[in-house]
Amino acid sequence: MSSIPISLLELEDDASACLVADDYQKKEGKWCAGCGDFGALNAVKRLLAKEQLRPEKMAFVSGIGCSSRFPHYVNSYGFHGIHGRALPIATGLKLARPELDVFVVMGDGDCTSIGAGHWIHATRYNANMTVLLLDNNIYGLTKNQTSPTTPQGHASNTSPRGSLLPPLNPLQTTLGVSNASFVAQTADWVPAHLYATLQAAYEHKGFSFIRILQRCPKFTPDVFAKQVKDPDYTELLIHEDGVNAPGLDKLFKAQRVHDPKDIDEARALAQRDDKLRLGIFFKDASFPVYDEIRAVPPVSAEEKVNRLNKEFDRYAV
Ligand code: SF4
Repeated sequence: MSSIPISLLELEDDASACLVADDYQKKEGKWCAGCGDFGALNAVKRLLAKEQLRPEKMAFVSGIGCSSRFPHYVNSYGFHGIHGRALPIATGLKLARPELDVFVVMGDGDCTSIGAGHWIHATRYNANMTVLLLDNNIYGLTKNQTSPTTPQGHASNTSPRGSLLPPLNPLQTTLGVSNASFVAQTADWVPAHLYATLQAAYEHKGFSFIRILQRCPKFTPDVFAKQVKDPDYTELLIHEDGVNAPGLDKLFKAQRVHDPKDIDEARALAQRDDKLRLGIFFKDASFPVYDEIRAVPPVSAEEKVNRLNKEFDRYAV
């Protein structure tokens, strides 16, 4: 197909068409130059093309924030929700339409603040969806307010003398929730790793939570600068059951074999801040998946009418 963005309706019309990455781009992303959200969008488009996902068979759900513009830029169905509420919307969608591939895109000010309650419960429900937390450590859309993941001491409009508290750690938080089944971390400036992590998350059956460290040159230009410049500040988590992207072993000398089934080591690694760690911290596909365990057998139209009449009869006078 051509690389010119085309409409969802046109794509639906030709179900046999082979789609390339640019076919999934609805329009140009309106983010600042150098924003890490562009890298995330590119990786997502690559994944969609690799899997040949039909645009009418998937949906992108977001909350509010810079990264939450995502559904506007992907050639699929989408729901640009309200602040912090992407996960309950996506969970409801998955339960109503289990055949859809559901992707969720949130920012740190969205998921880890006003959406924190939903985040914890959606993790526990473990519905089958791919969840991207684009973490730039700041509220960007509303122009520079401290978020829960803002580094201690970082000055913003709401904390002009610097953030007073240690930041919330999204990996630790997610790994602390019972029934969490997939937790990974990657970075927008390592595209091969970002893509491979997305692929692993998509293939996982359950709630796949990826924290994507995301550069915001506008408001947090320094927070990842050291790691972007010098790969020695980063350690790759490697394992045959983890993220395996070609060529990264040459770039990142620091590597650690970590079995993603080892929850205790995953929690210990998530807590450490001596290096930035990229890879799958935890993965277990044996955990209950809510959209599967609550599935009810199909009911015929006649049976539905019978059940309704039975209910009405209860109120007959
Ligand atoms: Fe990206 Fe930051 Fe600009 Fe938002 S403010 S679009 S996060 S660079």
